[in-house]
Amino acid sequence: MAKINENYLLLENSYLFVEVNRRAAKYSEENPDKDVIKMGIGDVTKPLAPAIVDAFKAAVDEMADADLFRGYGPEQGYEFLQQAIIKNDFNKWGVDFDVDEVFISDGAKCDTGNIQEIFSQDSKIAVTDPVYPVYIDTNVMAGRSGLMGEDGMYENITYLPCTEENNFVPELPQEDVDIIYLCFPNNPTGTTLTRDELAKFVEYARENDAVILYDAAYEVFITEDDVPHTIYEIEGAKEVAIEFRSFSKTAGFTGTRCAYTVVPKELVIKDSEGNDQALNPLWNRRQTTKFNGVSYPVQRAAEAVYSEEGQKQIMENIEYYLENARIIRESLSEAGLNVYGGVNSPYIWVKTPNDMKSWDFFDLLLEEANIVGTPGAGFGPSGEGYLRLTAFNTLENTKEAMARISKLSF
Ligand SMILES: *Cc1c(COP(=O)(O)O)cnc(C)c1O
Repeated sequence: MAKINENYLLLENSYLFVEVNRRAAKYSEENPDKDVIKMGIGDVTKPLAPAIVDAFKAAVDEMADADLFRGYGPEQGYEFLQQAIIKNDFNKWGVDFDVDEVFISDGAKCDTGNIQEIFSQDSKIAVTDPVYPVYIDTNVMAGRSGLMGEDGMYENITYLPCTEENNFVPELPQEDVDIIYLCFPNNPTGTTLTRDELAKFVEYARENDAVILYDAAYEVFITEDDVPHTIYEIEGAKEVAIEFRSFSKTAGFTGTRCAYTVVPKELVIKDSEGNDQALNPLWNRRQTTKFNGVSYPVQRAAEAVYSEEGQKQIMENIEYYLENARIIRESLSEAGLNVYGGVNSPYIWVKTPNDMKSWDFFDLLLEEANIVGTPGAGFGPSGEGYLRLTAFNTLENTKEAMARISKLSF
């Protein structure tokens, strides 16, 4: 008799964006004359930069040429892209890797979701709260969560609250944990850790034989000097951390698909017999067994992100989003709201006025200003009382939305 993986029954329905869209659609239907501005979008809106498209097309032409055609590539990615990543994303910050420490993939979502497979079933995991739901859900599927409690938290998962009270800097876990997921600049709060704050987590991991899974998907948005661009800027991090990066937000690859994961060879943990086991060969085995690599043209397109033209062009897009973020931040502050993020991130995390619930504030903005945000409560219990706005809309719409908010009084 076939049986299902009953862990799937423990998953919470991901109704957040469904419900956001349902309420927005209902409002538009009842108010067809209103121009609703969507600022809940977690997806980029600018098209691929010309230098990237040129490289993409040239690689497609190669695939049409019998002499240049390529079939299955290395599952870990082509060396030309691994080299470009090491040089541009790490050497720049004084960090070096061998090519076989960089694994090219089709997404940081997939990688952050799949990585838990190489850890023991009984690993205790910690996540920041609010959180990118992939980290939790993939551990629920794997059977590490236990049941969801009344408080909105799974019983076997450690939640590290990030709120106004701690300035969105999570405290170190109070209980013993094995794996800590960190995402900075953070989705959804848009906040960051300084080098010193991140160093405390690295020290914790080193002292407690824990591993940090560091999601730096928003690294390209960093503007402040004391914010680390990679966890490996922190001394000793290679021995305790895996880092995830993505071309999705960096260069508009959300529909094109390319990302990478760094698993340093120094990252070694003990097996049940007390022997040292390096994680790099385990991840390599996992990827070569279950993944076939990213297509050649996409890897050439990703390589072009690092060309001089490519860098110039993608940074124009990033600056456009950051300008939107600045406008949102300043307008909301002027309107008397407490706002966080938006300096090193396309996300602005807004404290609801007068202790309103996230969904009540969502409805207020929809009805009074015709703006759609994302209720913070949808990202975890500590997101209650906040709302996320994104800088991915157009400059014109962003300005119009802020003009509407400035007319409201809170
Ligand atoms: C968008 C995003 C990613 C990127 O995912 P891809 O699968 O590479 O598109 C990773 N982590 C977080 C937190 C994100 O918001």
